[in-house]
Order: sequence, then C-alpha cells, then structure tokens
Amino acid sequence: MRVSEQRYARDRRALDVATRLLDFEARTGTIRELTGLSDGCIRSLSKACGGKGGSGPRSRHRGASPRRVNLLLAKARAKDEAAALLGVCLLMGLISESPGAAPAPALDGLARAERLCDAYWTFRYLVPEACIGFEHMQLILSAAATGEELATTHCRDCRALLVVDPLSRYSALCPQCGGDEPSKQKMMDFSPMRRVAEESAAYR
Ligand SMILES: [Zn+2]
Repeated sequence: MRVSEQRYARDRRALDVATRLLDFEARTGTIRELTGLSDGCIRSLSKACGGKGGSGPRSRHRGASPRRVNLLLAKARAKDEAAALLGVCLLMGLISESPGAAPAPALDGLARAERLCDAYWTFRYLVPEACIGFEHMQLILSAAATGEELATTHCRDCRALLVVDPLSRYSALCPQCGGDEPSKQKMMDFSPMRRVAEESAAYR
C-alpha cells in the first residue's frame, strides 16, 4: 500500500471512530485524544452527522470529563454496571485482571480507540439503560488499571465478577448471594454478565 493510501485508510478509520464516539456523546477533547482529529474537524463531523432531529450538531456532554470514580460508583446499581462493563473489557483484552499488569498485546492509539468503542457498544447492547457513559468507562478502566480506587474480585460463592473497595476485596459476596432481600429484588440480575470474565480473553 502506498503512503498516500495508508494515510487515507488511517484518516478513514479515525473518522469512523469519531462518528461512533459522537453516537456515545463523547466530549470533543475525548474524541481528539482518541482519534488525533482536530477540534474543527470534530465539530464539522458533528454538524454533518446531525442531531436527533436531523439538523444541527449532535448533543454531547460539555465541560470537563468525569474524574471521581468513587462518586460515580457510590450506588450499588452503578457498581453492578461497572462489573459487567469490566467483564466485557477483560474479554476484549482491554485490561488485565491484575492491577498494574498491561493487557497483551498492547494496542496502538487508534486500534485501542476502536476496541473501546466495541466494548462500550457491547456493554450498552447488554445493558441498554446503563447510567455509565463512554467517558465513565475510561475513568473506570483507568481506576481498575491502578487498583487504588477500585478493585475487581469474584463473589466467594458464585465466582461472579464484582467491583469492590480495594480494602474489602477478600470478603466479597455478590447481591444475589449475600445482599439483603430488598436489594436483591430491586436490582437487575447482572450475574450472567459478570460471569463473562470467568472466560479467558477471547478478543485479540
Ligand atoms: Zn455470588
């Protein structure tokens, strides 16, 4: 492939990723960081893609990206969603289950952006009403990689993947095995999704 063709193919991929990120309501800064496209290009693309009514730029989040994972995961429902999301990311090779260990093989910038889009799309397919947005996923992945603000573990009864406080990872039970009765009834059953992380990473 000639240099000009390689460049065209890369630009095409970047625009495809940016279009997917617009669908996920990502901020301009996030799209720039993941695709390398300029702010002007992203704004033009947003306008060209149109809003929900078919005219004007798409509605997206504004301001700074979310930064506090402990606030995000304060509610049990959000923790359950995060566990399902991390299960998908583990399967897709975006993270390692051991904090600090890089997933293998390492992905270059655009390939990782494509993988992130695949993971988030899959998560939303599994959990259509999720409160966790695309940029929340980036925050959760970053926190899971360091293991300082959250940890993953498995329910000691059913082995479902759980998101827990790093200090309580050795005594965790999932809501279905050890939660109080009201929370069992209120919560959606995420256990099949958590258990995807029991499989070895199949998405390379
Ligand atoms: Zn359990």
